[in-house]
Amino acid sequence: MLFYSTRDKNNRLPLHQAILQGLASDGGLFVPEYFPQIKLNDLDPQLTYAQFATHILKAYFTDDSLSPAVATICHQAFNFPLVFKPLNDNTTILELFHGPTLSFKDFGARFLAQCLGHLNHEPRTILVATSGDTGSAVASAFHAQPNTQVVIMFPEGQISQRQQQQITCWGENILALAVDGTFDDCQKIVKQAFHEPWWHKRGHLSSANSINIARLLAQLTYYAYSSWQFCLQHQQSVGYVIPTGNVGNSTAAFWAKAMGFPIREIVLATNANRVISHYIDQGKFTPQASIATLANAMDVGNPSNFERLTHLYDTHAEFKAHVRAFSCSDEAIRQAIISAYRQFNYILCPHSATAYFARQKLSTQPWIITATAAAAKFETILEPLLGLQLPLPEQLQALLHKPTHLVKVSATMAAVQQAVSQVTRP
Ligand SMILES: *Cc1c(COP(=O)(O)O)cnc(C)c1O
Repeated sequence: MLFYSTRDKNNRLPLHQAILQGLASDGGLFVPEYFPQIKLNDLDPQLTYAQFATHILKAYFTDDSLSPAVATICHQAFNFPLVFKPLNDNTTILELFHGPTLSFKDFGARFLAQCLGHLNHEPRTILVATSGDTGSAVASAFHAQPNTQVVIMFPEGQISQRQQQQITCWGENILALAVDGTFDDCQKIVKQAFHEPWWHKRGHLSSANSINIARLLAQLTYYAYSSWQFCLQHQQSVGYVIPTGNVGNSTAAFWAKAMGFPIREIVLATNANRVISHYIDQGKFTPQASIATLANAMDVGNPSNFERLTHLYDTHAEFKAHVRAFSCSDEAIRQAIISAYRQFNYILCPHSATAYFARQKLSTQPWIITATAAAAKFETILEPLLGLQLPLPEQLQALLHKPTHLVKVSATMAAVQQAVSQVTRP
């Protein structure tokens, strides 16, 4: 199995090289040559999640140097549960946030860290720009990994206190930089670094952002697993409603469907950033400046995985026939949170609330609402809205009491390099 660029079928690499490289050399995104077809009857209902993931991912690792490690990678990465919470006869919440940093990003970040950990041992720098959840998931996944320096940039004062603590509590090989600028400034520095020899002299340079093929492969496992489990229980396929920003999470669901898993339909839920709905309606992809919303991890005006989603279809008409999207305002997010709490005594995070909102517009067929983060991460929004205090999950409790390590820098390449050179050996 090789992975080729969305921009050129002849630009192909084996899996481990696609993982190391992140972006294809022509600026495209890596996609698998084909989708291995699964036979549901061959799957033993007793499989654990990690065994199941190994079974369905094996084909993507065929002939790659990582192939002998796939079982270990899955067992180390997927060591936390997936939780189903049925709300009523035709709506189930799928909680993907029981990993160490309480968002679905733990699946992809842990899997990526395991893959890289099984590759060569040359020193490596991992650069990440984050508006919250990615930074904490990557820090947790790579903490104490040998030969690996992780540099996380976040916009100072623009992420929640709890998010910041989850990034700055690690120390050792995790350098947290509070950047005097915006998320876009952080992102720009990451992109620029790949063009500067200074960074490459330090060893291999990678970014752990959401376009890495390893993250997509990790994410397709929970759609495959949950649709299979749903089918075992209910003897029918199910639809998914997915909170969407950079479209990485939802693209993985389309890939699971392409493998033959019993997924009836996939619906994208976005916040007030409407670039996908606009594409569906108008047939034109027009990146926008992002709008700040209550679901901040989805504040994306130029979704980085969109090219992978359009790559699945030959024409706009075909895309439109398969992909639906609903956009949810901040007011509708608040209403969804209140309604789920009153009706089902269920507390949604603001991101998952966009999917709940979209679910209300859909048919009486069975749907799974993908819940992407734990409510407790967003207590400053939810506690005043619902008039209650959210219990602190134990993963957070453990981290909140650790000392913090952070360096404040201005939003320039020179300042970031200066901070990095001070903490690591030359
Ligand atoms: C990252 C994130 C999303 C958006 O996922 P994409 O893969 O970027 O579409 C949604 N919800 C939460 C909580 C997130 O952290």
